[in-house]
Amino acid sequence: MRRLLVAANWKMNGSKESNALLLNAFKAGFDGSADTAIFPPAVYVPQLSEELAGTSIAYGIQNAHFEKSGAFTGELSMDMAKDFGCQYVLVGHSERREIFGETDADVAKKVAAILAAGLIPMLCIGETLEQRESGITEQVCEQQVGAVLEKVGIAAFEKIVIAYEPVWAIGTGKTATPEQAQDVHAFIRAYLAKSDQAVADKTRILYGGSVKAASAGALFGQPDIDGGLVGGASLIADEFVAICNATQ
Ligand code: 13P
Repeated sequence: MRRLLVAANWKMNGSKESNALLLNAFKAGFDGSADTAIFPPAVYVPQLSEELAGTSIAYGIQNAHFEKSGAFTGELSMDMAKDFGCQYVLVGHSERREIFGETDADVAKKVAAILAAGLIPMLCIGETLEQRESGITEQVCEQQVGAVLEKVGIAAFEKIVIAYEPVWAIGTGKTATPEQAQDVHAFIRAYLAKSDQAVADKTRILYGGSVKAASAGALFGQPDIDGGLVGGASLIADEFVAICNATQ
C-alpha cells in the first residue's frame, strides 16, 4: 500500500559533466518499480530540471530556509525550489544538525515552510553511536519526530517522508542490519499511530546509512522499510540503478 521510494543524496559532490553521466545512466537503467528522487547541490537543479524533463524521476534540494524571502544571505526559499520544479526537500540531515548546528526547533520550522510551499519534506532523523550504545535510540527518534509533529500536526505525515539514518551508519560502510532498521522503523510508525493509525500506515519511512546494492533488497523487504536514502552509492551509476531496482 505504500509505494517504495529510493532517493539519492549527492551531498556536496558532482560537476555538470559527472551529473550528466549519472542522469543518463539512471534514465536508461531504472525499471520504474520504485519512485525515485535526486538531491543534487542546489546550483545543479536547473540541469536536473532540463535532463529529467519528461521522466518520472523527481528532484529537490538538500536544505530549506523557513522564510519566503528577505535578507538571508546564502539561503534559498521554498518558493524558489518550487519555481525550478523541485518536488522534495531534504531537511534535518545529521550533517546539518551536527556541522551546522540545526536544532529540532529549526527543523520543525523548515518542515512547515516546505509544506506551505506545497513541497514534500524528507525529514532525516537518527541516533549517534553514543546514543545507541546508551540505549536511547527510540527516545532520540521520538524527540526528533515529535518536534515536527507538534509543529505541523499528524495529518501532515501523510505527505512527509521520514528518513531514518543512524548517524553511525552514514558514510561508514556499517549498514544497520535489516532487523535493527526494521525495529526502529516499526517504533517510529507505532509512535505516529498513537496520534493517527491511518496516517501512520501511509507514512513512508526510508532507511539511510551505507545502503549498497548488496544490502538494499533485504532492507527494502522489511515490512516497515519503504525504500532508502542513499549517499555514497548514489554517485556510482550501476550501484544506484541496482538499488532502485531492488525494490520489488
Ligand atoms: P551513505 O549512503 O554515504 O552512508 O550516506 C547516507 C546519507 O547520509 C544519505 O542522506
